[in-house]
Amino acid sequence: MSGGWDITDHACRICFGRILSRGDVFRCCNCGAECRGEVEGICGCGAGVPPPKKGKRRPKGKFRCAKNPHRSAADPNEISIVPTSTLEASHGR
Ligand SMILES: [Zn+2]
Ligand SMILES: [Zn+2]
Repeated sequence: MSGGWDITDHACRICFGRILSRGDVFRCCNCGAECRGEVEGICGCGAGVPPPKKGKRRPKGKFRCAKNPHRSAADPNEISIVPTSTLEASHGR
């Protein structure tokens, strides 16, 4: 990895690739999707969530990027995008 990109624990909502960050820029290492400001612009956390209105926080998304506990040939991504309801059920938070 060169150019000072940091790996995030977020996955691209388009291709499920790993998202990298540098400063306030977020970029998918796989398809090259890019956004500024918030990783939610391209990652699974913001999937299905309308953009926030000016001065308002982004509403809570239905999905969340999470480490994939069952990596396999069929699902090789380290980070997967899962419904938040699943996470709340398993972590109890
Ligand atoms: Zn991508
Ligand atoms: Zn995310």
